[in-house]
Order: sequence, then structure tokens, then C-alpha cells
Amino acid sequence: MSRRVSILGATGSIGQNTIDLIARAPQDYEVVALTGARNIAQLAADARRLNARLAVTACDDLLDDLRAALDGSGIEVAAGAAAIIETAQRPADWIMSAIVGAAGLAPGMAALEQGTTLALANKESLVCAGPLLLATAQQHGATILPVDSEHSAIFQALVGEDVASVERIIITASGGAFRDWPLDDLVNATLAQASQHPNWDMGQRITIDSASMFNKAMEVIETHEFFGISPDGIEVLVHPQSMVHALVGFHDGALMAHVGPPDMRHAIGYALNHPNRGMLPVERLDLAAIGRLDFAAPDSRRWPALDLARRTMTRGGLAGAVFNAAKETALDGFINGQLKFTQMADIVAETLDRMDHAGGHIDAKMTLDNVLQTDHLARRAAQAAIDRRAG
Ligand code: NDP
Repeated sequence: MSRRVSILGATGSIGQNTIDLIARAPQDYEVVALTGARNIAQLAADARRLNARLAVTACDDLLDDLRAALDGSGIEVAAGAAAIIETAQRPADWIMSAIVGAAGLAPGMAALEQGTTLALANKESLVCAGPLLLATAQQHGATILPVDSEHSAIFQALVGEDVASVERIIITASGGAFRDWPLDDLVNATLAQASQHPNWDMGQRITIDSASMFNKAMEVIETHEFFGISPDGIEVLVHPQSMVHALVGFHDGALMAHVGPPDMRHAIGYALNHPNRGMLPVERLDLAAIGRLDFAAPDSRRWPALDLARRTMTRGGLAGAVFNAAKETALDGFINGQLKFTQMADIVAETLDRMDHAGGHIDAKMTLDNVLQTDHLARRAAQAAIDRRAG
């Protein structure tokens, strides 16, 4: 029997990898809906190819373009943020959450409320509202399967294990574009340089976040929220080959490592086939040819984002929403030339400080409305901090 699937963020890097897997076995899936934002040509082409029932763009102003691109196909179209949420509410057995940024939170929540299985790539939603997401899943009998490669690796290493016997979790980081740069040169890093990843082929935002380690900082918080591991029990190691994705350390001293090629189709495919293991079109590693795997402790002067993640976890409450909003705003500032690469961490630190002293937002109850409100205020605070520097 075919499974009903929807892909939120279908036109992005994770979305396209998901489609690659689904398109290899079309008879196994019934595609309920695909969503995107600006890339209408890709969205329409995939909707036709996969015979989706519905295609939705987040951009209201692109509805006519989408309608024209799907003319004569019989595929239903819609546009806007509310339409994306309604799409997540359409009955489906498996929904990929691969929208980038905090925009993925409300659709992810809506999907969980229908009790589906949510393959969660959108790490921002766990960082902003981890406890809320987990509680919603529990309340509605939904399942969350992690898709970030590190978290999929941890999840796999924990199969059949008692989480109470976990002593520590180590997640690895490639070190991104500037791993070996002299520290003094980082201040002059350009957008083009930060957008090159040595190992992974990903969207531009996450690639820059890899160079700054904000991506890893997000993943540390994600690990804390999803697996319930205390901040002290989570370590980061720089591992330039990106083959060991994560290691779980148990209280008998054993370390279970997950090793695989840097190809997101592994983690996506694991979530797609769970609880089984399907055949996946990923490279089989030849460890003898690879020869060596290197590990090193990260330098917090190069990657201050990691300390900011610890601070965020220790603070708790809605600090994650502030961290993520400030990070996204600072990243926009770097992309549009308002900030230098090294100033992104300053903006996040300053926003955490300001929001901590402003109206108790971080200590507000964790509801979707409060998270979105805190996200909004933190973006404003971060943008003000950027403007002060520019002015
Ligand atoms: P991309 O930027 O490649 O794709 C983002 C997707 O979200 C696109 O479909 C885009 O549409 C859509 N989108 C953008 N803005 C909005 C919006 N406001 N509302 C609704 N949809 C929107 O991102 P990635 O695929 O790289 O990442 C997606 C998520 O997965 C992120 O949370 C990322 O951190 C996480 N992730 C990514 C990994 C990777 O390898 N890429 C690895 C692990 C996690 P369009 O392109 O049409 O404008």
C-alpha cells in the first residue's frame, strides 16, 4: 500500500534530496503536497513529476506564477504562510519538515497536531520551542524522527539502548570553510568564501552557519532538547572528514559511533524507511582507502557560537527562540553586507543580554504565540544592534 507523504520545503536542499528518494520508488508513495517559496519552476516541475495533489508557495505574490506553471495539470495551488500551515494539516502518513528558519515552526506544530510522523530537518523549531514540540507530539500520538545527520546518528546509536545509561553525546563538526584560516583573517571573510563547504552540499544559509559554527551551536541545543541530555553531557569535536556524525558514550565507557558518507540522503532515507532500513543510493565507505579519521577540540575563539549555545541552554525558557532569531537576523546582516563575519556572534550575545533584561520574555510560558512573539522582539533587538554598528 502506498504511503501518503508531504514535503514542506520541497524546493530546498533537503527537500530535493527527499524527492530524489521518493522519485526512485514512486509506486510506494502518494504525494499529498509539496511546498516552496520563491522557486516556482522547481516546485511546479516536481509537483507534476510526482503527481502531487497540491503545490503551495509561501509567497502570496507568486500565486499567479504557480497557477500558470501548473495550468492544465489538475494540481491544486495555494499561497501564503497560512496556506503552508493548512498544507501541514492535510492528512498524511509522513511529513518532511524542511522549511528553513523559524518559519518552519508553525507548520511543524500543525503537522504534529494531526498525529503524523514528522521527519524533522528544521532544527530551528527544536531550538526555539523544543519542549513545546515534544509535548505536542506526545499529546497527539505523533512521532518525530530527526533528520539532521548528527541527530539521526544519535537516534540510530540509541536503538535498543536505555537513555538513562547515556553519559555523554559527542557531535562532530567539519569546521566549515574557515577551519584552517588564521584567526586574524576571519574578520575579512567574504560571503562567497563563507558559502563554500568543504564536504557537504547544502543550502547557502546552513553552509555559512557551518563556517561560523552557529549550525553546530544549533545542533548542540537540538541534542539537549530532543534527547534530554544536560548541556554538560554534550561535546563537539572537529572532524574534517565528516564521516563520523555522532558518538554516544554510555556509562560502561563504550562509545557507539555512527559512520557514513556526508550525504543527507542517508538520514532522510532512515527517517523515510523507519523502523526498517531500506536500500539507499549512498556511497559505501572504503575505510582502508580513507585511511585515517581526525578529531580535534574546537577553539572557542574561532567559534564563539558554541559558548553562546551553552549559555542559551543554561538560561533555558525561551532563550532558544532569542538565540535563533538573533542568529537568523545576524546571518541576514552578513549576507546583505551590513555585518562582518565575526560580528554575527557579537550580535547574538548582545541580543541575549538585552532580551534578558527586557520584560521577562525569556521566562514567559512556552506557547506557540509566546515563542513567535519572542522571535519577533528578538529580531527587532538584533536588527537594532546591527543598525547601531552600521550607524
Ligand atoms: P534551503 O534554503 O535549501 O531550502 C529551504 C526551503 O524552505 C525551500 O523550499 C524554500 O523555498 C523554503 N522557504 C524559504 N523561506 C520560506 C518561508 N518563509 N516559508 C516557507 N518556506 C520557505 O534549506 P535547506 O534544505 O538547506 O535546509 C532546510 C532545513 O533543514 C533547515 O532548517 C536546515 O537547518 C535543516 N538542515 C539542512 C541540512 C542540509 O544538508 N541542507 C542538514 C540538516 C538540517 P524556495 O527555495 O522555493 O524559496
